[in-house]
Amino acid sequence: MDCLFCKIVNKEIPADVVYEDKEVIAFKDINPQAPIHILVIPKEHIFSLDELVKKSHKVTSHIFDVIYKLADEYKLERGFRVITNYGEDAGQTVKHLHFHLLGGKHFSESF
Ligand code: 5GP
Ligand code: ZN
Repeated sequence: MDCLFCKIVNKEIPADVVYEDKEVIAFKDINPQAPIHILVIPKEHIFSLDELVKKSHKVTSHIFDVIYKLADEYKLERGFRVITNYGEDAGQTVKHLHFHLLGGKHFSESF
């Protein structure tokens, strides 16, 4: 399968990895939208939020543990934003589930 994020998981293309364990890997976004912009992904190729929910993947709570741990590590105690884009309307460009962890600035309320 030709998946960019699977290639990052398999170390076929480089990424600035900030966390890794058996199930999850987190790396800096190549085009950051905030001072801290990290992508947290399951190592398993899960297409999107849709598949995550329908197949009841157990990795969900673990992903959020990692997000929270990274937010703590990067001292985002003033707050942070977590985003996952699903499908065309949301502008999902990479078809491997990923959660954006954004922080280090004050965000506007609008999207
Ligand atoms: P989406 O729009 O699908 O929610 O987000 C995909 C994200 O992946 C974008 O924020 C984009 O900057 C990031 N991205 C795309 N290609 C690469 C890459 O090769 N390396 C890294 N680290 N991030 C990437
Ligand atoms: Zn993949």
